[in-house]
Amino acid sequence: MAFYTAAALKNELQQRGFRLTPQREKILRVFQTLPQGKHLSAEELRYWLDREGEKVSLSTIYRTVKLMAQLGILRELEFAEGHKHYELNKPSEHHHHLVCVQCHQTIEFKNEAIAELCSAQAEARQFELLDCQLTLHCVCLEAVQEGWPYLLPDNWVCPKAHRPLG
Ligand SMILES: [Zn+2]
Ligand SMILES: [Zn+2]
Repeated sequence: MAFYTAAALKNELQQRGFRLTPQREKILRVFQTLPQGKHLSAEELRYWLDREGEKVSLSTIYRTVKLMAQLGILRELEFAEGHKHYELNKPSEHHHHLVCVQCHQTIEFKNEAIAELCSAQAEARQFELLDCQLTLHCVCLEAVQEGWPYLLPDNWVCPKAHRPLG
């Protein structure tokens, strides 16, 4: 699958009977300008749009990212229960994630062996593989050193974690 430009996306959407509305285009642009390794929840996406003066309702954002994930434009990631994150779906940059359960810092890693294993499993069952995501639920050394889980102060902020809305 190709890396989507606005024009390519417009084409793709039209072929499948969807329009590239200005809101969809803006949402796509946010993802295209995110630094690699940054993943946004719907709430964070609204914050980014807000900062650029774009008022888009949360329900529109939820619908749009869902649609884009179904079309293979975005990749939907479930790092924690009930809390989805999204990133651009770039198969050439296929990767997995380590997530700190305490501070939510997320580290990406690539691994060919995992990708091959997943392809072989899907193929053996005559399934078409859409995505293969390995999420490692971890706790960072910073939290452990501060006494995670029981002794960690309630207001502890990981010095290494990205600010959630940065
Ligand atoms: Zn990622
Ligand atoms: Zn952490």
